[in-house]
Amino acid sequence: ITIAEGSALGKRFGVGTERIYEVLGYHILTARYGVTLMDILQEPFENVDFGGFTLQVSKPALEADFLINMPALKTHNQGILSLGMKNLKGCLSIKSRKYCHRPDHSLDHYLSLFVEKLKPALTVLDGIYGLEKGPFYMGKAVRMNALVASKDPLAVDAVGAALAGLDPSDVPHIKGYADRHSRSLDLDQWHFRGTPLEALRRPLKWDNRWREDNTGPRAWERMGIQGISIPKYDKTLCTGCSGLYSPVLVMVMSAHQGVPFNEIEILTGKAMTPSGKARSTVLLGNCMIKANRKDTSIREAVFVKGCPPTMDSIQEAMERCGIHPNMDFYKKHRSSLMERYEGKEGFDEGFFYIK
Ligand code: SF4
Repeated sequence: ITIAEGSALGKRFGVGTERIYEVLGYHILTARYGVTLMDILQEPFENVDFGGFTLQVSKPALEADFLINMPALKTHNQGILSLGMKNLKGCLSIKSRKYCHRPDHSLDHYLSLFVEKLKPALTVLDGIYGLEKGPFYMGKAVRMNALVASKDPLAVDAVGAALAGLDPSDVPHIKGYADRHSRSLDLDQWHFRGTPLEALRRPLKWDNRWREDNTGPRAWERMGIQGISIPKYDKTLCTGCSGLYSPVLVMVMSAHQGVPFNEIEILTGKAMTPSGKARSTVLLGNCMIKANRKDTSIREAVFVKGCPPTMDSIQEAMERCGIHPNMDFYKKHRSSLMERYEGKEGFDEGFFYIK
């Protein structure tokens, strides 16, 4: 038995798989049952043809005798839900994961494809907790007490969507897979055992609402934040930069002193274009710099290099634009995200550790 995980670790970003195994006590499984612990990113990849393009897919995962896919039930700000099909993206190399976030916005199509090549023999969805407004830790964990298992990956994702209060046909990558294989998403086609779905269903919010003019989250409207624009993330943004969105928003909020900022725009991903109206245009991440560095409508360009950029470089860029974030506020906000579960019934941290 091999447990495989592929956590992305960048420069001052993310946590490596080995560290995760160590902290959660997975080595006990090795000592007790001889389980092999694998970091997918340290193992070979195979170039797999997806019909018109090639992705690097984990060789051990492709060659497994019996592949069990074990996703957690999460909502996802770009893909709506992250269940079995989406979880398999973790079997790609980092380069191929990034490839899926393209300017033609075909992320949903890619998410529907991995299952066809990896062909999990069993999918077990862990919905003990569901993550609202995921996929990052800024979302809210909701105790759901649900586990879903099936040899049919589509059945698990369709039931997972229903548990989260969504119609599976409203989730583009699930619908895309079903359509391509001429499969119905009608839940009545499957035979259920165990607790009735209705008893476990907990509608989860997945989207973040933005101002009408797409210049920032709705919360900024209530706070009266003006003179700054950060358009809503799109599907070209990959995990590295996507995880920076919330910190950037919180930093701006911490810097707000009740007066408008100096007409600043912050652009991300690969497809955004400058408004031509800002005094300073912050191009966040190497992709955005590459896309717009020669745009003549930009009055002052501020480059935040990196893939993804570091928090220090973002803070530096903000300071250059006259935004002075209160980093103590930001750190307290981060801590509060973890502390909000402390002492709450059903949120025992010890549940995650192997003993
Ligand atoms: S710069 Fe950001 S969006 Fe571009 S590949 Fe790197 S992490 Fe992804």
